[in-house]
Amino acid sequence: MTEVRVRFPPSPTGYLHIGSARTALLNWLWARKNNGKLVLRIEDTDEERSTQQSIDGILDGLEWLGLDWDEGPYFQTEFADEHCKAAEQLLAAGHAYKCFCTKEELERKREAAMAAKQDEVGYDGTCRHLSPEQIEEKERQGIPYVIRFKVPERQGKVAYEDKVLGTIERAYSDVEDFVIVRSNGKPLYLLCNVVDDIRDRITHILRGQDHLSNTTRQVLLYEALGAPQPVFAHMPLTLDLQKRKISKRSHGEIVAVQFYRDKGFIPWALCNFLALLGWNPGTEQEIFSREELIDAFSLERISKVNSVFNHQKDDPKFFTDPKLISINAQYLHALPIDELAAMVKHDFIKQGLWDEVYESERKDWFLATLALIRDRFHTVCDFATRGRAYFADDYEVEEAPLKKNILKYPDLKTWLPLLAERFAALPEFSKESAEESTRALAEELEIKPGVLINGMRTVLTGQLAGPGMFDILLTLGRETVVQRLQNVEHLYKA
Ligand code: GLU
Repeated sequence: MTEVRVRFPPSPTGYLHIGSARTALLNWLWARKNNGKLVLRIEDTDEERSTQQSIDGILDGLEWLGLDWDEGPYFQTEFADEHCKAAEQLLAAGHAYKCFCTKEELERKREAAMAAKQDEVGYDGTCRHLSPEQIEEKERQGIPYVIRFKVPERQGKVAYEDKVLGTIERAYSDVEDFVIVRSNGKPLYLLCNVVDDIRDRITHILRGQDHLSNTTRQVLLYEALGAPQPVFAHMPLTLDLQKRKISKRSHGEIVAVQFYRDKGFIPWALCNFLALLGWNPGTEQEIFSREELIDAFSLERISKVNSVFNHQKDDPKFFTDPKLISINAQYLHALPIDELAAMVKHDFIKQGLWDEVYESERKDWFLATLALIRDRFHTVCDFATRGRAYFADDYEVEEAPLKKNILKYPDLKTWLPLLAERFAALPEFSKESAEESTRALAEELEIKPGVLINGMRTVLTGQLAGPGMFDILLTLGRETVVQRLQNVEHLYKA
């Protein structure tokens, strides 16, 4: 059987968009599923817009996502000679011709065709029938020319089978003789892309439906170049709730892979989410390990309709698609604790929260604390923000618990220091003894224990909710607890 060979050919003109990452992922899945090869090709022919920074961003992004490739990166510009040779080959074989029509002439003809309400406003084929002598004469005069592909004059339709969309066909007569080489001698992207795919022996082309309009013309190029046609599978686009393409301009950073890296997402969780964005397992299953996804993936289950990226700009809960947040949280809660610790370490270093003892004398404490607090967290960054009180004294007290649990009870100003005294005096500071003295004090003060417990939670962690209160006390340790409970006053001053 022929080896499955797919490719990911990004144009390095910006950041790695999550839509491109999804394309890379689905190609990667198809390669891995079939023990095939994934070729990475940087399509850098647009010299003005391609940048090294973008190339680095794409490579880093793929690496971070864990999408490894088997060949490349190749660079399209390195094959410029081959692209030109292919154009010459097409010319020599009569599949293409030189077109000397000027821009102005073409524009005039187009306007006339539009005014006459002709359906066909494409190129009218003027230069298609020039004699060799006429061509020679024009060349001698130095008239610039483009090279156009000669669409066969056949009845019927040019057709191909798309694995996602089914049969796609277009009447030959509807395809204009399209340009393959510009007047400056540069082959067009449409041709370069096919030449590269032929050279790289690509068997399957999985790409977004935004390329659908190119495919009929590319199918004609394959035929003219005498190369077998690859299998095409055009994936749906990812749109927002208003059915607009998602872009940095309209949606901000959330469309870039880098954003998820910075925000503490787990790379495979993002892949898991991206796979479901336009591919349907046919079951209720939402969480897929790498192996499960490779196993379950099929081209037939890629959806035909555009997928929706649910982003509601002004709602912080929707800082990105909530389904992605939820999938990431599920991974975060289930990750082996050592793996999680490595990610948290990385973020703590960035935040200036890292302490070497977390890998030596306090390693057990560090791992146990991560395990204790992760249940309510969604991203790795939550440990340094919402979990900050476990690792530093300069944490913020959130407004909701401050109002609800502290400011509402001015007497806590004296009650909590009193509780601190009791804790300090305990012969042994345990979950049981701490709970007992909290309840005893509440009884003496004739208040509900919840007032002390909620007040204590707010003062000690800054959060409204979290792990069991008495687990928190032990994790923080008596000294920190006592010291924080003694210093509640400042909360009333703000
Ligand atoms: N370089 C193209 C892009 O980034 C990819 C074209 C293709 O997949 O054929 O959109």
